[in-house]
Amino acid sequence: RPRALSGIQPTAGSFHLGNYLGAIRQYVALQETHDAFYMVVDLHAITVPQNPMELRANTRIAAAQLLAAGLDPERCTLFIQSHVPEHAQLAWVMNCLTGFGEASRMTQFKDKSAKQGADRTTVGLFTYPILQVADILLYQADSVPVGEDQRQHVELTRDIAERFNGTYGDTFTVPSAHIVRETAKIYDLQDPTAKMSKSASTAKGLINLLDEPKVSAKKIKSAVTDTDTVIRFDPEHKPGVSNLLTIYSTLTGTGIPELEEKYQGKGYGALKTDLAEVMVEWVTPFRARTQEYLDDPETLDAVLAKGAEKARAVAAETLAQAYDKVGFLPAK
Ligand code: ATP
Ligand code: MG
Repeated sequence: RPRALSGIQPTAGSFHLGNYLGAIRQYVALQETHDAFYMVVDLHAITVPQNPMELRANTRIAAAQLLAAGLDPERCTLFIQSHVPEHAQLAWVMNCLTGFGEASRMTQFKDKSAKQGADRTTVGLFTYPILQVADILLYQADSVPVGEDQRQHVELTRDIAERFNGTYGDTFTVPSAHIVRETAKIYDLQDPTAKMSKSASTAKGLINLLDEPKVSAKKIKSAVTDTDTVIRFDPEHKPGVSNLLTIYSTLTGTGIPELEEKYQGKGYGALKTDLAEVMVEWVTPFRARTQEYLDDPETLDAVLAKGAEKARAVAAETLAQAYDKVGFLPAK
């Protein structure tokens, strides 16, 4: 079986709709066809200011949501990044293979650091994509399910894997991004040209999966659309409506042409009211399942302990090979 690997940050507690549609749905699908490894990336979460108590709580909440979304610990390996020290250990080697200019070209770093200002931007945020390189290569992943915003980081991973293999001899599988076009970028409900984001969206623009369903319904009803009233999928000219159609279509499995047909001659209000209903029906059981996992922390921690053990077995073997290739003297 080919390998899949992906990670998601525990910042903010709740995942948002973009995380689910762009990434987590693909995690669930790939556990059927791949030897899949999924992790909560707490090392990545400390690249920006954070609160230790919240991080610990949010890490469990993240794992509970992944299980509630359909990850099955019998069919995939679910773990917490910091439980596998090999991530940080391989990242150092990858730091030493990455050009400063190359890392400086990462657009996500440029955007995030521009917002924070240079003095508040950590070196950790700068090397974040390089830790991600190590995350992926440790598992010899063939496929990396992510949203569009991560494409550049997976490209970097491919470049570094090829560079390592060329310099030190064949060691790493060169991975490919697994990006599902239709849902690769879910947009902010208030600014439908910007990606829905944990760190950048305003509260009104963001659907948090763990919010009260009523709150999410209200956000959908007040989503920004346009002044014309035709319901048509046209991301370029009608980004707000198109975003709502994408969400509606993916959550219900209804094709977009079918939806366009259904809402012909009806206003945006009808579309929004129905989508709000769809949203409520989806998040209600999701929240309940998440809460069930959180109510039983022993079971949750046992799942994560088993996941860490399985992940470490793979990661330790890859790290040993890489350290050997680099020329580190083995510890006796
Ligand atoms: P931040 O804004 O802090 O980077 P985020 O919202 O991007 O947070 P991450 O944990 O960085 O969340 O991303 C987890 C996964 O969700 C990644 O694979 C990412 O590509 C995907 N993703 C994030 N936002 C969206 C979106 N709006 N549409 C589709 N996929 C998304
Ligand atoms: Mg992100």
